[in-house]
Amino acid sequence: MSMQRREFLKAMGAGVSAAALSACAVSPSRSGPKVVIVGGGYGGATAAKYLDMWSNGTVDITLVDANPAFVSCPLSNLVLGGSKQIADLTVTYEGLRKRGIKVLFDTAQAVDPLRGTVRISNQQDLPYDRLVLSPGVDFLYDQVQGLGGEAAQAKVLHAWKAGPQTVALRKQLEEMRDGGVFAISIPRAPYRCPPGPYERACQVAWYFKRAKPRSKVLILDGNEDVVSKKGLFMKAWNEDYKGIVEYRPNHVLTGVDAATLTAKFETADDVKADVLNVIPPQRAGAIAAQAGVITANNRWCEVNFLSFESIKVPKVHVLGDAIQVAPLMPKSGHMANQHGKVAAAAILNAFAGRAPNPAPVVNNTCYSFITDKDVVHVASVHQYDNEKKTFATVPGSGGLSPGPTALEGEYAFAWAQNIWADMLT
Ligand SMILES: Cc1cc2nc3c(=O)[nH]c(=O)nc-3n(C[C@H](O)[C@H](O)[C@H](O)COP(=O)(O)OP(=O)(O)OC[C@H]3O[C@@H](n4cnc5c(N)ncnc54)[C@H](O)[C@@H]3O)c2cc1C
Repeated sequence: MSMQRREFLKAMGAGVSAAALSACAVSPSRSGPKVVIVGGGYGGATAAKYLDMWSNGTVDITLVDANPAFVSCPLSNLVLGGSKQIADLTVTYEGLRKRGIKVLFDTAQAVDPLRGTVRISNQQDLPYDRLVLSPGVDFLYDQVQGLGGEAAQAKVLHAWKAGPQTVALRKQLEEMRDGGVFAISIPRAPYRCPPGPYERACQVAWYFKRAKPRSKVLILDGNEDVVSKKGLFMKAWNEDYKGIVEYRPNHVLTGVDAATLTAKFETADDVKADVLNVIPPQRAGAIAAQAGVITANNRWCEVNFLSFESIKVPKVHVLGDAIQVAPLMPKSGHMANQHGKVAAAAILNAFAGRAPNPAPVVNNTCYSFITDKDVVHVASVHQYDNEKKTFATVPGSGGLSPGPTALEGEYAFAWAQNIWADMLT
């Protein structure tokens, strides 16, 4: 077990019981059709809960996740700012287990779509009638020279999957000298959570302003401009965090020197930092590649948006960050939760011999913390367009905050509690 992971499990503290850490007690099988779900994050846990609830507990559901508890990426930037602990974002799978869903703490190794099985450890095969994959993202380390090895990855952290890396990055920030530079590298879109890196810059700046006021936050963006909530973030950097945050566009990362914490770019000059945070380019999680459902640019999984079934492999549904999204649909936890519900309904319809709902509507809200309590949001509504066979944003729906407020901060914390309850109880 790596040092980061050991320290992380300690930090999760009371959040995870000893029982949850073992491959857990399994409920007896149900007589209905079998659904296996790989990934108990925003997409997969939601699908599990709604398949159970809408089938009145008749579908035989097995949820497989590599981690013993759910750790939320939303709010994880607050751990870097120091106003929250990782235990505050950790929720056990007990609620799903109590429903009678089998939750296995294991890593899915392979999918055999012809036999309809998922291989987990100990050569065990889980049979399925329908499979749901919501594995999130994996990192394309081969696109960042010098970041391929374990030692470099332990030094130049991503913290783009909440957990041990979040705790370790906070430790690096605490240990940094006052007057140091925190540099964050953002990949070209599409990547997980468009506003997330800019929120992170705010959170680190919030911490520096109080604890290390001579320090700097350098945003090295692989994109031509701020990808999300531009005006709101720019205002925060030019006002609240003036003199701390500096934004530099067109910084496409090509490599790092982990020994000297130097970032190298396609066209811009090298940047040396005291804490270097690289969010690498991403693609659908490895199990999606193995299952053969990656169909777009060798990175993402195209799905039928009425059911989230793979366009290539029948009876395999893909949710969340792993999919090739519809236009203007963000890779967000809120959206993955919505995918989970559309897919659960479509799977139950398929079991009953019925077609899926022909007109699904989904929505998204992403909150970003500018300080420890002042927050902004962006929202949107997406309706299935039968002609184009994709989701399109509903004209006039959604919107953007005029500016950060503490009231929106309360809404953001309530959003988190509500969505965790929606997925996990
Ligand atoms: C810093 C940050 C801030 C964010 N803030 C927000 C926000 O405010 N609002 C918002 O809506 N979204 C936010 N997001 C985005 C959000 O976290 C993701 O969009 C969301 O987690 C996607 O859900 P998912 O189900 O696709 O993947 P995840 O939630 O990552 O779940 C994937 C799960 O699959 C498991 N897994 C993967 N492969 C296997 C395997 N082979 N076997 C077993 N288990 C496996 C993993 O352990 C993981 O638990 C943020 C992201 C980050 C990084």
